[in-house]
Amino acid sequence: MRILCTNDDGYTALGLTVLASAASAIGEVTIVAPDREQSATSHSLTLFHPLRSRRTVDGAHVVDGTPTDCVLLALNELLPRRPELCLSGVNHGPNMGEDVLYSGTVAAAMEATVMGIPAIALSYTGDRPEEIEGWEPWLLKLLRQLAEGDRFPDDTLISVNLPAVPPDEVRGVRVTTLGTRRYSDSITRAKDPAGRDYYWIGGGVSSWSGGEDSDFRAVQDGYISVTPLHLDLTNYRLLEELRGWNLTL
Ligand code: MN
Repeated sequence: MRILCTNDDGYTALGLTVLASAASAIGEVTIVAPDREQSATSHSLTLFHPLRSRRTVDGAHVVDGTPTDCVLLALNELLPRRPELCLSGVNHGPNMGEDVLYSGTVAAAMEATVMGIPAIALSYTGDRPEEIEGWEPWLLKLLRQLAEGDRFPDDTLISVNLPAVPPDEVRGVRVTTLGTRRYSDSITRAKDPAGRDYYWIGGGVSSWSGGEDSDFRAVQDGYISVTPLHLDLTNYRLLEELRGWNLTL
């Protein structure tokens, strides 16, 4: 199986190295990844400056663009043959609930899904990314089950979140829904050396909520969370109600 590996933490991230290593047990891996941190770039494309790609001594393609740029270039220019699977991650941080709307990790998998390639986004919910290394055997087991065979769903990507527990304490796998994230104090306002205000998004303490079957609950309980994500954001349950508004000109 030909496997494209990418991420949003940049090509030097440990999570990508571990993912590529696990994936190499089930296929022929090519890495096409950003040259720097691109977390929270969502599905952005670089349109207004040229992109460059270079090769590392290990053969990875390193692109000075976003994760979505990487997947686009990989499929259209850099890879000699179309990959049969795209893996994105392992992200150094969770991608649960609304995170998936901001995540470059998830967006890269989404881009592959749009192009008709089965794609899995993987994220580690702990704050010690060096722990990701120990997850390799579990990643391999999961990848075999998710990606081998021909049952991978159309128009759907799979988002995996690893719990913040030592790998040998993981309790199992749960198929989940997206929970809800609540950040508090996540914007800092301060003064620059010239006395002008600046704002810094991020940080703060986040808390989560979600039902029994949510991603957040699964990782909190020590399970690997596996969420199927559909690209169609239409709220089908609301169609009839909205038609009932009789919008007209
Ligand atoms: Mn990231």
